[in-house]
Amino acid sequence: MLTFIAPWHPMVEISIMGRHGLEGRETRKIVFGTHTGTHIDAPAHFVPGGSTIDETSLDALVGKAFLVRFPQCLPKRKINIRDVKKQLPDLSKVKRVIFRFDWSRFWGQEQFYKDWPFFSLELASWLIEGGVTLVGMDTPSPDNPMDDRASGNDSPLHKLFLKNGVTLVEYLARLDEVKTDSFDLVALPLKIKQGDGSPSRVIALVNE
Ligand SMILES: [Zn+2]
Repeated sequence: MLTFIAPWHPMVEISIMGRHGLEGRETRKIVFGTHTGTHIDAPAHFVPGGSTIDETSLDALVGKAFLVRFPQCLPKRKINIRDVKKQLPDLSKVKRVIFRFDWSRFWGQEQFYKDWPFFSLELASWLIEGGVTLVGMDTPSPDNPMDDRASGNDSPLHKLFLKNGVTLVEYLARLDEVKTDSFDLVALPLKIKQGDGSPSRVIALVNE
């Protein structure tokens, strides 16, 4: 399972504890981080004292979402407001926006964590000012991968979104299977007490 390589993100470990032949039941121990695989970021991830995943409202996580598509998006592409407006001219009725780059085609490869397409600062501000409450993507982050701790500009768009109460859903997969612009999103994190995020099962309900 995908986990960003950093000392603060543990690798996933799954081990069998109970065994049918011995304990008469099967059980497992699971070790994972709050940002493992498809997951949701709560404000507390980057905002000291920010709200936590157990406090994230289900209203933000479940409901109508709009899918913006950049199929087979090339690495390093910066997505601007005008790119999004071509598909979504009016934000007034949209609370949740999901971005498809088909970046999950690199799931499990080194490329997944390299040069992913990212949002411009203007695009992030436009979404926030437009009243969007949830932004999802099939990349590791909305931020420019060149903006990192080493560059002294660590995750500015994460901070901007989370400070403004926008829930982030990252590492989405199989968005190419959603054929409609609009669908019902169900994004359910584990209710981890004081959690800064949680692996999540995220599904699209599509009326065909
Ligand atoms: Zn995260």
